[in-house]
Amino acid sequence: MEVLVPSLRQKGRRMKAHIATLAFVLLLAQTANAKVFDIIAHRGASGYLPEHTLEATTLAFALGPDFIEQDVVISRDDVAIVLHDIHLDTVTDVKTRFPDRAREDGRYYVRDFTLQELKTLSVHERHDMNDKPVYKDRYRGTKGQFSIATFEEHLELITELNRQFGKDIGVYPEIKSPSWHRKEGVDASKIVIDTLTDFSLATEDANSYVQCFDFDELKRLRDSLHYKGKLVLLIGENSWNESSTDYDWVRTEMGIKEVAEYVNGVGPWLGQLLDKRALESGRIKAARWISYVHDNALVIHPFTYRKDDLPPGMDSDTLLLTLKNIVQADGVFTDHVPPVATWRRQSQ
Ligand code: CA
Repeated sequence: MEVLVPSLRQKGRRMKAHIATLAFVLLLAQTANAKVFDIIAHRGASGYLPEHTLEATTLAFALGPDFIEQDVVISRDDVAIVLHDIHLDTVTDVKTRFPDRAREDGRYYVRDFTLQELKTLSVHERHDMNDKPVYKDRYRGTKGQFSIATFEEHLELITELNRQFGKDIGVYPEIKSPSWHRKEGVDASKIVIDTLTDFSLATEDANSYVQCFDFDELKRLRDSLHYKGKLVLLIGENSWNESSTDYDWVRTEMGIKEVAEYVNGVGPWLGQLLDKRALESGRIKAARWISYVHDNALVIHPFTYRKDDLPPGMDSDTLLLTLKNIVQADGVFTDHVPPVATWRRQSQ
């Protein structure tokens, strides 16, 4: 599907008018496909509270997404911990609590700390390497004690809330840097799927997806670990050095065909979804590789909708309508559940 739009480079009021027109045209481009557009709470309710804390997960649950995401890394004593990075320094006070525990590169690694030590750390809103908040309008509190939590604690919390509220909000764990963990002497994938199994979340029809940037690891999950639950391959850029997977190859007809033999879906980042040449001439059209994804009946869950960091030239409705009607995505990862939920309610 393709939609003609005025140049996205125009500015000011004209730009706003064009975006409003664009949103209207995209709305008219509604497909007959009425599948539910999944809302995945990215790192919990990370747009409002320090990411991946139990508080952020509790708030995410209350906001009513379809899934809540957990990024998983492994501690020194082989416990699955919910944190976005293998490092601790951008979201905790590790530098002041354990000043002499950095590695030679100056970074503090989850893998070097026991669960007991990790529990003494205070989690704060994400900072950059200069210790400035990455998103200036998010949680500014400094006095609360937010803590690191285990994957088990997160699954227990969601399971218990589901039970009491009669809900079925799913989980969406990501195995972080599996080959790095293996070099550190631990099989992160095995720990993640064993924990999911303990909570009856590892079956084909369980309300869960396991995601990973490493295609070889997802193949291993299917072939060697015989994992039966749903899998999603995250698709980044080769320059990000997320894994040894060649993401340029993944986004070819052959690549997607092979990926589809192992996984149920893909998670590309927003910058990979649209045809860039068409966009330069004012047209919104899905990138060619997106058609291969649909041809192979893969689910597509792009990342990440952030209301405070929308793609250039797009407002919230335009982005969401583009995802649903042009890309024909099956949902989106979001730091902010409410605007996506409101849009979904109004657009149905
Ligand atoms: Ca993630």
